[in-house]
Amino acid sequence: MKNILLLGSTGSIGVNTLSVVENFKDDFNVVGICANKSIDKILEQTKLFNIDNVYIEDKDSREKFRAINTNKNIKIYESIVDFINNIDFDILVNALVGYSGFIPTIEAIKRKKTIALANKETLVVGGDIIMPLAKEYGVDIIPIDSEHSAIFQIINHFKNIDIEKIIITASGGPFFNTPINEFKNITTAEALKHPTWSMGKKITIDSATMMNKGFEIIEAHHLFNVSYDKIEAIIHPQSIIHSMVEFTDGEIYAQLGVNDMRFPIQNALTYPNYKKTPFNRFDFRKYNTLNFFEVDFNKFKMLGLAYECGKLGGLYPAILNAANEVCVYAFLDEKIKFTDIVNIVTNMCEKATQSEATIESIIEVDKKTRIETESIVNS
Ligand code: MN
Repeated sequence: MKNILLLGSTGSIGVNTLSVVENFKDDFNVVGICANKSIDKILEQTKLFNIDNVYIEDKDSREKFRAINTNKNIKIYESIVDFINNIDFDILVNALVGYSGFIPTIEAIKRKKTIALANKETLVVGGDIIMPLAKEYGVDIIPIDSEHSAIFQIINHFKNIDIEKIIITASGGPFFNTPINEFKNITTAEALKHPTWSMGKKITIDSATMMNKGFEIIEAHHLFNVSYDKIEAIIHPQSIIHSMVEFTDGEIYAQLGVNDMRFPIQNALTYPNYKKTPFNRFDFRKYNTLNFFEVDFNKFKMLGLAYECGKLGGLYPAILNAANEVCVYAFLDEKIKFTDIVNIVTNMCEKATQSEATIESIIEVDKKTRIETESIVNS
């Protein structure tokens, strides 16, 4: 029995993780959940999964939860660091949104816990710190992100050959066919309609700008220790191939499957073992066409920006991430236009200066970038 600490339990990955646990009751047990503020969902999850440890990020929601909860066995934590450091668990499932996932990952690594990582921003902002730290503490970081799970599985199946290239598939998002001159008129509602995956709002907007794919390139660079010139993205609108790896012998291996996050979650939780899945399988008869298209770097400038910031390293990816987070929420609040996201984020990266990434410098630059981006957004 593996004990799971689940961060982001009420989001899309969190709910899917609980669905996996429900199907493998003899293998997994959820010992603690953390969420931002969906207290009704949290209460329901504590009952359904008999969970005794809860952390709620939003303070008002935490107090409301305290008032409505009648189970005296439930311990409510006051900080996420306390939550991670005072519970016995084996695997941390980090499904937090954005930068907030960074410090919790570090805390869990220091406790030598396995990390099942859905929070890609952890590696975007701090990959240069996280990967060596995981190595130092002997911790496995297992990706949940569908593309990285695919790559991880392929690499694990072919260990005696060098990687020539990693090919990350991208759906292209809702605006793959939209002409660039119409981008300025894109509404929040339009950007929230993802063609192939049902996900949270932040990542759905990141998919629309293709920032998400940019982040995934940085994530892949750190996870698989592959240089940026060996990582490419290709548009594959059906999202059936979750990613591919080309090896030095010229063979390319692709991982295919239905768009159901429970598959990568199941594999992350059972790693290094495998279990027969209870979930619906892929049926080739339903998909007689798989298409591939070149990425349009001119239309989706975030992708090029991610390559640039990734290659520059240091604090650039953290600045890229912080500016993007502020802009995405501003766009969701309809404070800025769709095209403002890329313009403001590019601007923030262009005026940045290079510095070495340490945990402290990342925390600092994240704060500073947010304040500066907020002031641009509000002006
Ligand atoms: Mn992904």
